Amino acid sequence: MDSLGRPDWAGRLRVRQSELAAANLDGVVVSSAPNIQYLTGFDGSAGTLLISGDETVLISDGRYALTIQEGIRAGTLAPVHFEQVSSRYDLTLVDLVKSRGLRRVGFEAAHVTVAGLRAWRQGLGEVAWVETDDLVERQRIIKDAWEQDVFRRGGLAIASVAARLGEWVRPGRSEREVAHAIERGIEEAGFSKPAFATIVASGPNSAHPHARPTSRRIEAGDLVVLDFGGVLDGYCLDLTRMCGVGSISPAAQALVTAVRDAHHAAVEAVRPGVETRAIDRAARDVLEGHGLGQAFQHGTGHGLGLEVHEAPRIARVSADPPELVAAGMVFTIEPGAYVPGVGGVRLEDDVLVTPTGCEVLTGGPRELLVV
Ligand code: ZN
Ligand code: ZN
Repeated sequence: MDSLGRPDWAGRLRVRQSELAAANLDGVVVSSAPNIQYLTGFDGSAGTLLISGDETVLISDGRYALTIQEGIRAGTLAPVHFEQVSSRYDLTLVDLVKSRGLRRVGFEAAHVTVAGLRAWRQGLGEVAWVETDDLVERQRIIKDAWEQDVFRRGGLAIASVAARLGEWVRPGRSEREVAHAIERGIEEAGFSKPAFATIVASGPNSAHPHARPTSRRIEAGDLVVLDFGGVLDGYCLDLTRMCGVGSISPAAQALVTAVRDAHHAAVEAVRPGVETRAIDRAARDVLEGHGLGQAFQHGTGHGLGLEVHEAPRIARVSADPPELVAAGMVFTIEPGAYVPGVGGVRLEDDVLVTPTGCEVLTGGPRELLVV
């Protein structure tokens, strides 16, 4: 973080440049929008980044020219060289690679289409194009001091939205009406937008982990899953809380208790050096102990950042070799149990991994809110 409270653009680019040298590349083309945003601050819908030597060139079109030039002057964007697309992105990139005399150029294998690569090859027959994997994602997985500060502020803000759920969840209201109220609350709490389409799933709909809000009216005896998030300074927060309408059935209450215990066990399991799948195991063991192993069909969590789902995955199956938790990671803990005929329960918080354990970013009450 610099004295103006801005991301350390130079530091982020410096790491990339040392990796290029290690991989014996003259340059790398970054195509993924969140990766470009991470490295430069530019969050437009169209752009390509060419990093080579000490130079970073942001290629974009006329729609963004003024925004980019002003952002660079104001310091809200990294001090890159801006190149405006003349007719086509691929042709502008080809011209730049030629003019810089680059011979071995990396590209993001996960983010370039076959047609895109073909166009570059046609324009630059003599250049060797080298696949790279997760070049920027590996850096994004560990949040720096500036990002941790955003997450701390975001955690408080999304918890303040959760504190208002009792104003919005009422018998007779439709799921859609409640979802709209939550999304207004998200903007009132200072977020630029919801991080994803808000989930309000009541009664039988709660048994579907990713239900869309419907016109169904909330009624007595319902369990209601409320899963929502907001974007603050580009970063996504994600939280799930549960409501019970009047008195709920003993079977529904048993789900609430089991998921609460699974959530607690998973949070307790978070610390640097453990395998990500051990956190999933901690939650799953509790649910299996309640006879609910089959009722928990998704992973325990996912990384948060510029994207609402990013690395690491907190799931049964992990990478090979297994991924390890590290200080500075931010991810969700969200076990759930879904039983047709009874309903569904999910409880979700966001945690920041510290040197000794984790900090729950999304505080506030997480018991069943009875309305
Ligand atoms: Zn969620
Ligand atoms: Zn989530």
